[in-house]
Amino acid sequence: MIIAIDGPAASGKGTIARRLAAYFSLPHLDTGLLYRATARVLLDEGSKLDDVEKAVSAARGLALLDFEEERLRGREMGEAASVVGAIPQVRAALIDMQRAFAARPQGAVLDGRDIGTVIAPEARVKIFVTASPEARAQRRALELRGRGEKVDYAAILEDIRKRDKRDAERAEAPLRPAEDAKILDTTDLNIEGAFAAALSIVNGAEAAS
Ligand code: C5P
Repeated sequence: MIIAIDGPAASGKGTIARRLAAYFSLPHLDTGLLYRATARVLLDEGSKLDDVEKAVSAARGLALLDFEEERLRGREMGEAASVVGAIPQVRAALIDMQRAFAARPQGAVLDGRDIGTVIAPEARVKIFVTASPEARAQRRALELRGRGEKVDYAAILEDIRKRDKRDAERAEAPLRPAEDAKILDTTDLNIEGAFAAALSIVNGAEAAS
């Protein structure tokens, strides 16, 4: 069973994906990390984020070690990831590994922006997780504070709006629900409520197949 989870930043999709993967004993890939790690390589080598050649070579050269850093989860890298994620050649360089992950025989859970639309359009279960920008900014602020980062709610809300716009308006694999995705709005749900709603979508899709 492939479970495709898409949605904007801080919608709760990562937590839902991790919880579903644990519940069904499936491997999980947080595809945002691929874009974050690509951006990190560019920033570390002093290259510009829109240098297509360097960005593609960074994406192709990603190694396991690139995913271990706490820094990848920070605010700066989310924004930088969204810049490299808008480069079609970078997306192309990252497609095969994501598709290979989705094609594992036992199935997989992948979360990102284009899983249900581009990476695994064949997925039996597709969930588009969303929430109001204000609710997402609150969550991101709490998360960053928990990690010791200094936070400014207004700046985070602004970041989220900017990232939503860039992700939704890009030409290649824009952020949008697949036609057959179920929309899960987590604005008024806590983690348990969001997980229960996601689980019932998965069970419903399983029963229907
Ligand atoms: O999900 P996360 O916040 O880690 O993603 C960081 C950025 O990476 C997103 O804003 C988006 O631009 C890009 N991304 C993407 N496609 C994915 C996952 C992430 O374009 N499948």
